[in-house]
Amino acid sequence: MSASAKGFVMMSGGLDSQLAVRVLQRAGAYVETICFESPFFSADTAVKTAAALGVKLHVIDFTEDILSLIKDPPHGFGGAMNPCIDCHATMIRRAGELMEKSGFDFVATGEVKGQRPMSQNSQALLTVEKTSGLKGRLIRPLSALFLEPTIPEVEGKIDRSLLLDISGRCRDRQIALAKEFGIVDYPSPAGGCKLTEESYSRRLEDLMSHEGFDDHLLLKLLSVGRRFRLESGTSVILGRNGEENELLSSRAKDMPLSQLFVPSHEVSGPTALVPRLVASGDDKIVQDLVDAYVKGTTEKDRERFRPLQIL
Ligand code: SF4
Repeated sequence: MSASAKGFVMMSGGLDSQLAVRVLQRAGAYVETICFESPFFSADTAVKTAAALGVKLHVIDFTEDILSLIKDPPHGFGGAMNPCIDCHATMIRRAGELMEKSGFDFVATGEVKGQRPMSQNSQALLTVEKTSGLKGRLIRPLSALFLEPTIPEVEGKIDRSLLLDISGRCRDRQIALAKEFGIVDYPSPAGGCKLTEESYSRRLEDLMSHEGFDDHLLLKLLSVGRRFRLESGTSVILGRNGEENELLSSRAKDMPLSQLFVPSHEVSGPTALVPRLVASGDDKIVQDLVDAYVKGTTEKDRERFRPLQIL
């Protein structure tokens, strides 16, 4: 075999991306890994996994990319505000840029043909290769034998005979391979991206149509508290427990236009963070809202605020 190929494997931390690393190494490639982080998904699992595999990991900030895709997703959204087709293609394109810059030969993913009927059928795999601009340089080592040989394979830098022909949703072969490679720690394949959650997406949509995405502090707080939107457009984030109350109080220090509200009597109750009061008179409404959620109040006390609640 000629000199070995160098490439970047897209690392989610899940089993398939770990197997992609090991299969490519076995086929003679030098491998580093890439993962992406944003306010909607973290790099934590990938960091842990890359360390366990002993491979170098490049963590790329994907915040601006994903925000612009949420505002205008060329291929639309999945079940919630997840622009998966474009997100995936953009990640591969970013990995391709790093490949060019580093003088590497390929980008690889742990995708398996037919594992996800919509996004991983043969046609979808080809489309991603084409739209990412990585024709001939995108390797799916777990399903490679169903696909045309890539340039590093043709050049003999990767031993194609050691790549695999896994397809479909059954995970038996992956589990067997994990044993063979001694991989014991892997998260379940689903989950990890908040954009796929319907309740989170409703908050995000509300933020997008009011404050927009410029303030990343607001983005980072999206999972926190009960959310209300007053008629004027004022947003209210109401802590649901002591931990959230403390978090809101500390975040307020970094938001110069924000105001904090606490119960008007000395009773146990929520803290409300208002990023910006839009109309005069809103402070009175927010105070009433906070008082309606103090300890001992009933659903009836809160009824009038229900129409304002986003979640
Ligand atoms: S689940 Fe989230 S991170 Fe994954 S492709 Fe979809 S939008 Fe991107």
